[in-house]
Amino acid sequence: ALQVCLPLNALGFVYREARDAWVNAERLFELLRERPEIQDAPNAPPLRPGPGEIVFDHVSFHYEPERPVLTDLCLRIDPGTTLAVVGRSGSGKSTLARLLLRYYEPASGRILVDGQDIRTVTASSLRGAIGVVPQDTALFNDTIGNNIAYGRIGSTRTEVVAACRAAHLHELIAALPHKYDTPVGERGVNLSGGERQRIAIARAILKNPPILIFDEATSALDADSEHAISQELDRLSRNRTTLIIAHRLSTIVNADAIVVMERGRIVERGTHAELLRHHGAYARLWLLQQRMDKDMAL
Ligand code: ATP
Repeated sequence: ALQVCLPLNALGFVYREARDAWVNAERLFELLRERPEIQDAPNAPPLRPGPGEIVFDHVSFHYEPERPVLTDLCLRIDPGTTLAVVGRSGSGKSTLARLLLRYYEPASGRILVDGQDIRTVTASSLRGAIGVVPQDTALFNDTIGNNIAYGRIGSTRTEVVAACRAAHLHELIAALPHKYDTPVGERGVNLSGGERQRIAIARAILKNPPILIFDEATSALDADSEHAISQELDRLSRNRTTLIIAHRLSTIVNADAIVVMERGRIVERGTHAELLRHHGAYARLWLLQQRMDKDMAL
């Protein structure tokens, strides 16, 4: 892949993302696109650490003025609990995560983390408190060990190995020709979608944040990987405030709460059992998915 070197002072945020690894050009442009001009308030303090309570307080948002994406949305995730968001493609699920990470700011309303409006604290401290397991994990042209160590700058090999054991990656890595020093990416070993997501899980284990965002892969993983990932997610989310952007309902039946989004609004909320009893949008999605799974199995 094309390797690029940029004027680092002009692109501080890219530098912070890249730190001691060169970034693939595609990833770099993605970073540039994903981060519009969000600036910290002068003398903004860091986020005060807390148990990880998240509140969306009457949040409205649009990317383009004529197209509202979130409308007067209210949402609370209690510390240490898991909230799953479901809804059609384009209903605004990922936008919730982007706003929580402050890649964008609400047009009106507030987002609070442990009672602090996230606009008033530094973005870096906010992002430091949140671990993200994205759909498609960006890998650097570097060794697999360094790719995982990137979860927390300065982590030791022992810590990386412990995180990999917890993410069930260690056996796979131990079988590679140069173990943790095997290159990944363009010229290195190829990893499946499930393995890449496990790398993101290992990074999150290293980072050990109070808040976790899990963006479930849209493309189905094979049944074994899916089961393994969902078990690892269960463990990782224990005692952390977790936001799951869900595409398959089977992975979220145990979530403490589920919200269903339609066109930027929450149309239903409850537990899996409550929502099934309600016979509404969620129950319809559930039936649809079961029918699709059955068809796939035939
Ligand atoms: P999916 O399940 O497909 O990931 P989603 O529910 O996460 O969908 P979002 O990604 O939050 O949906 O997008 C909500 C709406 O905002 C969509 O109509 C989408 O086209 C639009 N949108 C998303 N990102 C941008 C952007 N950067 N600029 C303009 N519009 C955008």
